[in-house]
Amino acid sequence: MELTFLGTAADSAYPLPFCGCPTCQHARARGGKNIRRRSSVMVNRDLLIDLGPDSIQAMLTSGFDPSQVRFLLQTHPHHDHFDPNHLITRIPDYGGICLAPLTLVASPGTLQRMTTMMQATGFEGDLLQAETQHLLSLQVQPIQAGGSRTLGGYHITAFQANHDHGAESLIYAVQSRGRALLYATDTDTLLEPTLGQLSASGLRFAVVVLDHTYGPGCDGGGHLNADRFRDTVAWLRGADLLEEDARIYATHLSHEGNPEHEELERDAHQHGYLIPWDGLTLQV
Ligand SMILES: [Zn+2]
Ligand SMILES: [Zn+2]
Ligand SMILES: [Zn+2]
Repeated sequence: MELTFLGTAADSAYPLPFCGCPTCQHARARGGKNIRRRSSVMVNRDLLIDLGPDSIQAMLTSGFDPSQVRFLLQTHPHHDHFDPNHLITRIPDYGGICLAPLTLVASPGTLQRMTTMMQATGFEGDLLQAETQHLLSLQVQPIQAGGSRTLGGYHITAFQANHDHGAESLIYAVQSRGRALLYATDTDTLLEPTLGQLSASGLRFAVVVLDHTYGPGCDGGGHLNADRFRDTVAWLRGADLLEEDARIYATHLSHEGNPEHEELERDAHQHGYLIPWDGLTLQV
């Protein structure tokens, strides 16, 4: 599999739009890898994880064709991961032609919230109704934590995220050709049901992309900080869920405790993980 980071920032983007802190000032001055979009990733050229507000522009910048996306995995409906307006452009009113069918996988709670967000723009459909799915040329596959699906050449398994439980937020394992990727944002420390399901899954990840919203000494709700990120990686390793040469990437980075790219990279290197940047492509 080929994995491309479309965005690596938290919901506040990076740098924080109007912030004058040294980190944000420095990020603006340095540019390049320090300019981060809201988090989402592409797998190969046909699987998108999270249709966020920056995802389509990032795809175009990286040379992807959004009309070729066949599978959309939605972790949860927060505004930095789901842009209702982009999905709505699939209705005939926008004059799009030859829209290829798109399979949308999300939890029932997330599908409900996505519908509410779409309705807030004046859209009258419901993602769980066949009529709406037909209108959007969309095949919707609700998935529960612990559930799995085969989508084309991919095998997907969903696990519960420790994040906005009302939306039934999920993290995903994506397997293809004997390799496995874990995409795990947004989440705080993984809870017992997830640890149990992961342990029993028989999965061994070649690449893990994990929430690192806050740097060392910083904290907030519903996300990992650097310390709990490292604890989570240690748990994954201890549970034999990582390939010997597994690569661990931090994502969903905010300006709180996460310094500019090179400094963050040096710090991560000391702890055995990696800092991606927007547009980075790697083989899983
Ligand atoms: Zn987020
Ligand atoms: Zn700042
Ligand atoms: Zn979130």
